[in-house]
Amino acid sequence: MSYPLTEEQQLIQQNAKEFSLEYVEPVAAEIDHTEKHPAEIVSKMVEQDFLGIFIPGEFGGAEAGYLSYILIIEELARVSGAVASVLVNHASLAAYSINRWGTTEQKEIYLTALCQGQKLGAFALNEPGAAPGAGEHKVVAVKDGDHYVLNGRKSYVANGGAAGVYIVFAQTNPEAGAKGISAFIVDGQAEGLSVARTISKMGLRGCQSAELVFDNVKVSAANLLGAEGAGLAIAAEALAAASIAEGAMVVGIAQAAMEDAVKYGKQRIQFRRPIASFPAIQTMLAEMAANIHMLRLAVYDAASLLENGEPFTAEAAMIKLFAARIGQSALIDVIQIEGGYGYSQEMVASRLYRDVKGAIIKNSSVDFPEKIIAGDLLA
Ligand SMILES: Cc1cc2nc3c(=O)[nH]c(=O)nc-3n(C[C@H](O)[C@H](O)[C@H](O)COP(=O)(O)OP(=O)(O)OC[C@H]3O[C@@H](n4cnc5c(N)ncnc54)[C@H](O)[C@@H]3O)c2cc1C
Repeated sequence: MSYPLTEEQQLIQQNAKEFSLEYVEPVAAEIDHTEKHPAEIVSKMVEQDFLGIFIPGEFGGAEAGYLSYILIIEELARVSGAVASVLVNHASLAAYSINRWGTTEQKEIYLTALCQGQKLGAFALNEPGAAPGAGEHKVVAVKDGDHYVLNGRKSYVANGGAAGVYIVFAQTNPEAGAKGISAFIVDGQAEGLSVARTISKMGLRGCQSAELVFDNVKVSAANLLGAEGAGLAIAAEALAAASIAEGAMVVGIAQAAMEDAVKYGKQRIQFRRPIASFPAIQTMLAEMAANIHMLRLAVYDAASLLENGEPFTAEAAMIKLFAARIGQSALIDVIQIEGGYGYSQEMVASRLYRDVKGAIIKNSSVDFPEKIIAGDLLA
């Protein structure tokens, strides 16, 4: 492809590819099978500076830009959607939010710890039975002098239990609905914070999802992220940044699946010919290649916009919309091309199918992507 990557970006991409093949691919199936948080891989990613790759150097990051980070996510997702997902939740949601809205003190304490790998980050927005967009948050934060007291439950928190820093969204003014939601930086060791259960998933297994309980958790007022009531705006932008990374996950997963289907199609003989010679198979592969190529360009473009401080939320919503369509159809076609073998657990396609579905659903924006794109058009 001809996207103009700098020499540094190409080096980072090559390094991420080698890292993924050497350390992640050999354990990817095991991570999926055991559903265990990949702590050893995370430690190795710390050594590579992946955890703070786009964060400024003064807070322990590598300052290499959002596109470099996206290139890493794509390479990781080619071999393990779960490992890519661990990094996306840490970097695009937790680290991004503190870097974007944190005070200098918050950045010195929490962002530095996230970049240097002392703590993993997570983002706790979703709640059992509450829709984030409608302001129905049931985790409530009540101000008491110089701190807030948090009570309630968060569900489906990726990296939950493994994380040392949570960005938690809580209702500080229930009468104000969505405008009464605020964001807090909460230490994973805070008294009263516990993991009620982990949620066994169909895909992205190993990127641990947990239900968290907040039982009178005291959070210093200094840990309020942004202004009181700014929570939903913070969540919307962080989720948009994450949509770009999730688009990169879909690119990586679909690319790996397509390459597997090409290999299989050349080897599988039916009617004395490799099945890849049949026009019906070639049409599926060609559509897949075109769609992956276009999604990749859109992902790199949106990452460049974010990196350059340009508006990027409409482009991120376009990625969410397009990735959902092409990611799923690519994996269905790959399994079709690989026939009965593709449907078996012996081939990688079934794991990639389960992972791509997770990459599409996870961290849906507070609004539907169509609404965001139309809002931008009609503004
Ligand atoms: C792998 C994975 C990782 C995740 N990680 C996190 C995380 O780290 N932190 C976190 O907070 N959450 C996380 N989540 C939760 C995720 O953000 C939610 O699952 C997602 O936002 C969808 O919300 P929901 O499950 O409540 O579905 P719902 O909002 O209940 O939607 C269910 C269905 O109803 C449809 N629907 C909803 N509203 C409307 C409407 N107004 N009109 C028409 N149709 C509608 C939806 O499109 C969908 O098909 C994760 C989820 C997954 C799968």
